Amino acid sequence: MNRLERTLGLIKPDAIEAGHIGKILDQIIQAGFRIIGLRMLHLTPAQAEAFYHMHRERPFFHSLVSFMTSGPIIAFVLEKENAVSAYRELMGATDPAKAEPGTLRALFAQNIEKNAVHGSDSPESARREIAFFFPEMELLSVKTPSSLLV
Ligand code: ATP
Ligand code: MG
Repeated sequence: MNRLERTLGLIKPDAIEAGHIGKILDQIIQAGFRIIGLRMLHLTPAQAEAFYHMHRERPFFHSLVSFMTSGPIIAFVLEKENAVSAYRELMGATDPAKAEPGTLRALFAQNIEKNAVHGSDSPESARREIAFFFPEMELLSVKTPSSLLV
């Protein structure tokens, strides 16, 4: 069943440092997602720990928090039919060595940690993560001008 859905995406510090912001956003737009919120910010350690709290027992947690606070990130909200799974598909597998050719991680990730992008893994996660980064009033509720779409 197809239904209009929202998901939260991030461009991680490695991809910003490497100059890939424009190419990543272009691929997202070309894939038919509507960007309804967008901001750049630099997470504090406490914010990164809160965002990834579900991974706090994992061996890579401290390294992940250190990486995610190493530079600015871009957070965005995407809208599309089945946006959560559609954007996970566009990103490719967590480990770029296992990501399908042409996916964002196959194209732009360096390794399993510095993997360029994030996307919510379920509609529930999407709701939590969108609220983490965006007050509802900062999300577009009017139709996107056609000049911003492909
Ligand atoms: P994300 O949540 O960032 O979209 P994901 O859902 O594909 O990625 P998760 O299992 O949620 O993967 O892991 C969160 C992030 O933690 C990964 O994107 C990656 O940056 C890092 N990570 C995951 N597994 C490892 C690992 N084995 N070693 C180092 N870092 C890892
Ligand atoms: Mg995840």
